[in-house]
Amino acid sequence: QSQEISQARIDYHVALQALQEHGTRMVCTGKMHTDRVCRFDYLCYSSEAEEFVFFHSNSSVMLPNLGSRRFQPALLDLSSVEDHNTQYFNFLELPAAALKFMPKPVFVPDVTLILNRFNPDNLMHVFHDDLIPAFYTMKQYSDLDDEARLVFMEGWGEGPHFDLYRLLSSKQPLLKEQLKNFGKLICFTKSYVGLSKMTTWYQYGFVQPQGPKANMLVSGNEIRQFASVLMDKMNITTVEEMEKDGGSAEGQKGKKDEYIVLFSRSTTRLILNEAELIMTLAQEFQMRVVTVSLEEQSLPSTVQVISGASMLISMHGAQLITSLFLPRGAVVVELFPFAVNPEQYTPYKTLATLQGMDLHYVSWRNTKEENTITHPDKPWDQGGIVHLEKEEQERILASKDVPRHLCCRNPEWLFRIYQDTLVDIPSFLEVLKEGMKTKPSVKRSKPASTVHPGRVREPQCQTSVQTTNEAKLTVSWQIPWNLKYLKVREVKYEVWIQEQGENTYMPYILPQQNYTFSENIKPFTTYLVWVRCIFNKNLLGPFADVLMCRT
Ligand code: UDP
Repeated sequence: QSQEISQARIDYHVALQALQEHGTRMVCTGKMHTDRVCRFDYLCYSSEAEEFVFFHSNSSVMLPNLGSRRFQPALLDLSSVEDHNTQYFNFLELPAAALKFMPKPVFVPDVTLILNRFNPDNLMHVFHDDLIPAFYTMKQYSDLDDEARLVFMEGWGEGPHFDLYRLLSSKQPLLKEQLKNFGKLICFTKSYVGLSKMTTWYQYGFVQPQGPKANMLVSGNEIRQFASVLMDKMNITTVEEMEKDGGSAEGQKGKKDEYIVLFSRSTTRLILNEAELIMTLAQEFQMRVVTVSLEEQSLPSTVQVISGASMLISMHGAQLITSLFLPRGAVVVELFPFAVNPEQYTPYKTLATLQGMDLHYVSWRNTKEENTITHPDKPWDQGGIVHLEKEEQERILASKDVPRHLCCRNPEWLFRIYQDTLVDIPSFLEVLKEGMKTKPSVKRSKPASTVHPGRVREPQCQTSVQTTNEAKLTVSWQIPWNLKYLKVREVKYEVWIQEQGENTYMPYILPQQNYTFSENIKPFTTYLVWVRCIFNKNLLGPFADVLMCRT
């Protein structure tokens, strides 16, 4: 495949003249460097200086124009990991007149998305930090289409998962290293810089211990749409599609061929009794058990297997990101080595339990120290501890629970997470059975509706005074406009009543469209009343405009 950037598709002299006359133009979204993506005309890059260059002319544009706040700390994050100081983007400035004294620019005609991959060696990071954010950044800007060119500026080589990045567009992505080959000064005709962070669900513990992002903005729906596009590009057909296409995956056999997938790691964090585990599972569930591993087969073939599985079982680790390809209703079972608390390492639990992922998540933890194999003599990054002081080694060996810690080099965490485990079958089965009790019974569960109610309409109040200390307040309203087009299992209304000037309120949940309140209602008092609709217990609608009701 040719990596040549065709200079024929643009008129070189027109482009050069435009750059000289108009300089660079930048318009960004986002108030902060952490939520900013910028679009540029004629952003240039000096491969000698390894710096991006903004050329000023009379008609150049720089929005936001931050002055030197552009360096506090940066214009934007080049990866989807928030505010990481190795991932900042900025540019140098020059007057366009300086072009006369510079090497002749080479123009990149493609619409380009410029970003940093965060950790392209690790499959979880590849999906969570790069592929899904790039996919949805491309959805946000319609000229980032199938013809777009991705440019990875983190400076790494292709890495083991480059084929996945290739699926994002029809053009071969460029690495920072390769920019040199094009020339000393490269100018991107049209480019976007930075990634949307809207889809990320996990923070890795740089400033506080790792955990789900505080403000998650993604649902399983977006993850599943990404997965389905990616599976198409990998030429994977799912059982659902075969049925839709008139096939009979279920029809002929009467019952779908259900199976369990065990994700195996072959170098670190091993399950020591895989064979025993497989036999147990097969017996317990009367299903076939299939083993997959990143080391032994291609990712597309693994995804093909996972996309039809009823259950995925794996040690904690990056390979579990493939659970995003499981069908709805499947079970994810994550195993944790001794002294590692499943509640504190939840990238896969958070994914599985995203609204609309419709996966059932269960975790198991080795609580038997005699069933763990430690590796104190390994290098530090595989959990070795022999380089530490004797006392520290002894403290770690005596500890039965890794305390909360920050990323990324905590030796106690690495020591424990790189243990191999002999899975205790009785306790594993018990956890699994217990976990399965709460699994929704639907065979292949349908996506739950996420349609929210509209506002209730025509809210009204009527009041009457009974005696000097008794009064009544009747509130009524009409159903939300969208309800008449919907089949909703349960429709309820919530009414809040607040005496004017007080800072507490009384909440009520009602099945009907009107109600007369008499308890705690005083004569000659003004009440503020809010009404909203609730579908199926947890889909809240907006409140209607507040009613002022004077008794
Ligand atoms: N990996 C693997 N088999 C192994 C060990 C690692 O396939 O025995 C993969 C793993 O899934 C990940 C990468 O190698 O994509 C790095 O693994 P590491 O243990 O460093 O990260 P983790 O899995 O803890 O995120």
